[in-house]
Amino acid sequence: MPYIVIKEERCKGCGLCTIGCPRKLVSLSETPNALGYTVAVFSNQGQCTGCCLCAEMCPDVAIAVFKEDQA
Ligand code: SF4
Ligand code: SF4
Repeated sequence: MPYIVIKEERCKGCGLCTIGCPRKLVSLSETPNALGYTVAVFSNQGQCTGCCLCAEMCPDVAIAVFKEDQA
């Protein structure tokens, strides 16, 4: 199955990716990280289609999308 990796060091917690995912697989963490950001978290429920909409929404290029057939 496709999946995403969120580079926490790039994430500013803006939340745009949470809006972008049509399957609601990305949310913001409830507690801030060491830099004070509530970073994006991927909930992999085997439902990611690899559509890349979350990554395209991110202004900080913090999301990488991986597709099974590219491994
Ligand atoms: S690649 Fe598509 S389905 Fe997967 S988390 Fe991103 S927006 Fe959601
Ligand atoms: S859009 Fe990018 S910077 Fe904003 S919360 Fe999502 S991963 Fe973080």
